[in-house]
Amino acid sequence: MISLLAQYHRISYGSKFVQLRDYQQQSVDAAISHFKQSTDSAVLVLPTGAGKSIVIAELARIAKGRVLVLTHVKELVAQNAEKVGLLTAEASIYSAGLNQKSTTGKTVVASIQSAVKNPQKFDDPYSLIIIDECHRVSPEEDSQYQQLLTHLKSKNAKVRLLGLTATPYRLDLGWIYRQHYHGKIGNPDKAVFEKCIFELPMRPLIKRGFLSQPKMFDGLSAQYDFSELTCSATGVYNESEVNSLLNHYGRATTAIVKQLIELAKHRQGVIIFAATVKHADEIMAKLADHEPALVTAKTSREDRDRLINAFKAKQIKFLVNVAVLTTGFDAPHVDLIAILRPTASVSLFQQMVGRGLRIDENKTECLIIDYAANGYDLFYPEVGHPKPDSKCKPVQVHCPVCDFANIFWGLTDDDGDIVEHFGRRCQALIDSVQGKAQCDFRFRSKACPNCGEENDIAAKVCNHCQAVLVDPDKRLKEVLQQKHHHLFKCQTMLLEADGDRLIVRYIDIDGNDFCRYFNMKTTAQIKAVFALFIFPHSKTPGLKHKQYSSATALAADSACFRKPDLLLLKKGKKSWEHLESIFDYQGRYQTQPDNID
Ligand SMILES: [Zn+2]
Ligand SMILES: [Zn+2]
Repeated sequence: MISLLAQYHRISYGSKFVQLRDYQQQSVDAAISHFKQSTDSAVLVLPTGAGKSIVIAELARIAKGRVLVLTHVKELVAQNAEKVGLLTAEASIYSAGLNQKSTTGKTVVASIQSAVKNPQKFDDPYSLIIIDECHRVSPEEDSQYQQLLTHLKSKNAKVRLLGLTATPYRLDLGWIYRQHYHGKIGNPDKAVFEKCIFELPMRPLIKRGFLSQPKMFDGLSAQYDFSELTCSATGVYNESEVNSLLNHYGRATTAIVKQLIELAKHRQGVIIFAATVKHADEIMAKLADHEPALVTAKTSREDRDRLINAFKAKQIKFLVNVAVLTTGFDAPHVDLIAILRPTASVSLFQQMVGRGLRIDENKTECLIIDYAANGYDLFYPEVGHPKPDSKCKPVQVHCPVCDFANIFWGLTDDDGDIVEHFGRRCQALIDSVQGKAQCDFRFRSKACPNCGEENDIAAKVCNHCQAVLVDPDKRLKEVLQQKHHHLFKCQTMLLEADGDRLIVRYIDIDGNDFCRYFNMKTTAQIKAVFALFIFPHSKTPGLKHKQYSSATALAADSACFRKPDLLLLKKGKKSWEHLESIFDYQGRYQTQPDNID
């Protein structure tokens, strides 16, 4: 304990003193050194329970000019103001929900909803704006935060902007910052903040006892299988699809709730994350004997406050919710988290788990139960995109050009080796003449027909010559209007060895096949196989492939290669000839959905 205490920095202010934990001091230092050199907006990433309000309070204490702390819920306004008061002079509070509207102090803590209604109250210039739970800030100009920020900048163009969050990621937009100090690109297009300047992972906080130990429970009585559902590009599941799938799971819900009641006998507080309101109602009905409470987006503010206070006071044991208790909710006694909803985001999963990781008296760990088979690890890094396939997990893929360790969605075999990944472009930031720039290696790409430059597979305009990349359907239509062309919709691809010859057999939905033949006798022929078959068909682009020396060895590894969606064929003198293989195709000529596992 002595060695731990020695790492703390003790701050005295009059008779008050608060000890900053070492990582809290490091995040304060990161902010100071950043703003000394730059006016770029910045983000600090600290897990829930890391004590963000102490960091905010310390920054407010040492800032030379006036500081405005903004957040979206009154609970956080109160909490931040309290911590500021512990470290330095009492903060002014501006929040209708707290019945206080003062902006006279050196530090003002305000709710964004109240502040945006009376921007003239914030006319006296601030030198630093701190936004708590800053992943809530939308880049849209007419959003509340952007309106107020525009006003504040009109009073002081050089005002510094700092955000704090546990989850610097939004399902709809991706990363909230443009660049990460670990030398990684964030969101180059729609970021709200310029730089992430400090990030603390959850694991060391648990190890050092600042957060409760999460205990994954694996003796599940039943489990939902949401793997058939696909989410939107922004990671959202369709509510009626979820409901219709859950219709078949009535018995599972009964078993799950029964198990939760059993497990809860030795627990103080249980939070249940339901998939939809209808699902939550079913759970509530099955919990009826245990006086559960339900909070959804439709619950009134008064009811919500009342129910949450009763839960915090341990008068209610089971708190069921639909997508509302993920952030800004703090009940340290919670020691059972039950997740009954699918999520395409690692961050969202960890936010849910985070509700149970606060430390508290008489609490040694928090039980986490994933009844929805989301399959995330608590310590998975955020990938930055919604999960493309339910079996995916984050995998590390080194860039063959700059060696940066990228985190992409991918699939692994039983040994943990990567068998497929979905990365498109290297995420590394590399020093260039104009400052930091993203590494231009692309794992998957399509070539611009005008200049040959590699572009993202979904790009509509060439990033080099600005040529409009032709709609594949339009091009295919033109090609197919010519005589003797055929579009082969590939369903399956098989690899066979015939002596020194590799046969690649493509089969369409009607069972017709088309074969390509590659000789693998000489070194030159093997090189050609790498260029014409292995690279374009690789499921693990950028990763080193085995040095195949025979057709047999290559055919044995057929699971490492992906089939093209379409083949463009032309009638030759004797038979059909291969013109082009089309991968990553989405359009009118789409093949039937793949039903191969
Ligand atoms: Zn790279
Ligand atoms: Zn081009």
